[in-house]
Amino acid sequence: MAKYMDMDTLRFLLFECHEVQKLLEAPRYADFDQDALNILLDSFKDFADKELYPYFREMDEQAAYYKDGKVIVHPQLEVVLKKMAELGLIGANYDHEDGGMQIPESIFYSLSHIMDSANNNVTGYPSLTTGSGRLIVTFGSQELKDTYVPKMIAGEWGGTMCLTEPQAGSSLSDITSSAIPTEDGYYKISGQKIFISGGDHEYCSNFVHLFLARIDGAPAGTRGISLFVVPKFRPTADGGLEDNDVFTAADFPKLGQKGYVTTHLVFGEKENCRGWLVGEPNRGLKYMFQMMNEARISVGVGALSIATAAYYASLQYAKERPQGRRLSDTGTKNVEADQTLIINHPDVRRMLLLQKAVIEGSLSLAVESAKYSDLVHVTEGEEHDEHLLMLEILTPICKTYPSEMGRVSISNGLQVLGGYGFTSDFVLQQYYRDIRITSLYEGTTGIQSLDLLGRKVTMKNGAALKLLAAKMQESIMAAMAYKELKPYAMDLGEKLKLAQKVIGHLLQFAAQGKFERFTADATVFMDFFSNITIAWQWLKMATSASKALSDNTGTQKAEFYQAKIHTMKFYYKYELPKTLSAAYTLVAEDELTIQKEEEILF
Ligand SMILES: Cc1cc2nc3c(=O)[nH]c(=O)nc-3n(C[C@H](O)[C@H](O)[C@H](O)COP(=O)(O)OP(=O)(O)OC[C@H]3O[C@@H](n4cnc5c(N)ncnc54)[C@H](O)[C@@H]3O)c2cc1C
Repeated sequence: MAKYMDMDTLRFLLFECHEVQKLLEAPRYADFDQDALNILLDSFKDFADKELYPYFREMDEQAAYYKDGKVIVHPQLEVVLKKMAELGLIGANYDHEDGGMQIPESIFYSLSHIMDSANNNVTGYPSLTTGSGRLIVTFGSQELKDTYVPKMIAGEWGGTMCLTEPQAGSSLSDITSSAIPTEDGYYKISGQKIFISGGDHEYCSNFVHLFLARIDGAPAGTRGISLFVVPKFRPTADGGLEDNDVFTAADFPKLGQKGYVTTHLVFGEKENCRGWLVGEPNRGLKYMFQMMNEARISVGVGALSIATAAYYASLQYAKERPQGRRLSDTGTKNVEADQTLIINHPDVRRMLLLQKAVIEGSLSLAVESAKYSDLVHVTEGEEHDEHLLMLEILTPICKTYPSEMGRVSISNGLQVLGGYGFTSDFVLQQYYRDIRITSLYEGTTGIQSLDLLGRKVTMKNGAALKLLAAKMQESIMAAMAYKELKPYAMDLGEKLKLAQKVIGHLLQFAAQGKFERFTADATVFMDFFSNITIAWQWLKMATSASKALSDNTGTQKAEFYQAKIHTMKFYYKYELPKTLSAAYTLVAEDELTIQKEEEILF
């Protein structure tokens, strides 16, 4: 079987670089030790090898489709949902009392990484069910929990998040779906939701939609949005199911992730759709943010995993494809010599190293972010608040960097294959198409960038930013202990100062109330700041690798650690300097993108 991800790198990140095993000292995770986590990871990899990866191309070629009110998907989905439920994986990160295994999020996201690398067309089905079930568990009544969650984690009922409407995508304040209270405790629901992932198929007997709507008379904007459970079929007192007037109007054919359905759902066309309020009225968006934040990290993990599988596919090709001859030291081509493999050409190595730098840097950031999510669970007071701040500031980066740079990385992977990369005979084109969605759903790159600059950088008087800068300084100090890493540690220190200058410059506009000017280049800022964040992750990885080499504590061979240090150097030579041009743009005085009286776009 072709390699699609690297368990050694995953283990290195989890247990050497980010030391997630330290979490296991908390009573919450007392059921696990490092061996148990390793066994779980290995058994899931085995499952992915057998049940996921072999179906990846087929799910693209036999895309999901809509016919006569039904959505037809690849039959392997049935097998996957059943086996995942049997293994307890759909609710694995839920608390014991909610039917879960209480595994750390960092391990849960690691399982997602394996799954997404093996077959990203499948992951969304169980993971949306996990997320929507957890919303019910966290904010719903006991009755809602008892009615829906056991069937969801058993893989029998699918869960969705129903936010988007034709006129309300990025801006949810404009949603118009409505909920009218009744005396019987339920609400009469009506509205249309588009682009609903995993919204219907034949391998779940019911769908539980976590649905945003306005209760009659609610305030305008986001403060008037409530969250409801709206099932496709209503559970009845005798254990049966009855129709709840939720109609699947279409499945959107797409550029990529063709095996993963994207439905158009119509609620209450016959005025017989019932929904049950989750938590309190008008707090729906706040609740939904729990799922959206989890889903944002999941999308980042999805993107980096698709790019990981693409890297291994292009690496394999580069090791097998002979083409041209190596340039000798004197620069002459010896046509008498045998052809060389393309992996020996520096430009091909540059493309492969770029991919490795992007995917492993992203995975390291994902593990670090997931670890903060675990720490939030097991700490209190000031410590808890600090972990939450770190999680909040890293989440938009964790989602956006792999989505944007993962696409660039796959494009380089496709380039490694030359003309063959563009053909359907090779898989690279599928990865290239599949990753494209990740910078769109769960908040576009533009929206994530506004979140990072407009909200996270400024929140609590810059507290999250200061904390992150302090963590970066700690890593710089740790790296300084190794002579080989010193220049890179100093480079990161310089870039951190540059970031402080750029942010200081932009904050002036916020202070003057010029918010459009403040955030006009938010996406350039995301580019700039996420580049520095990934450089930080690479310095951490290189420090762990240097430690393992110097004190012989590592579990991998020396070449493994040397490759990490080498890739860090590549990142600092080829990627980090791009922050200089981004900084130039960010502090330039011209306001070229702000709409002025005269239109220049024609
Ligand atoms: C395959 C797929 C699956 C999806 N799954 C789900 C799902 O399961 N549940 C769900 O509820 N939704 C889902 N979505 C919807 C998705 O989250 C939205 O498409 C996305 O949020 C963007 O909304 P939109 O398409 O209306 O684009 P728009 O909001 O119209 O955005 C268009 C462009 O304008 C930019 N833009 C918009 N507002 C601003 C602003 N204020 N400042 C700067 N730029 C701005 C955007 O960045 C974007 O580039 C899915 C979408 C797709 C394509």
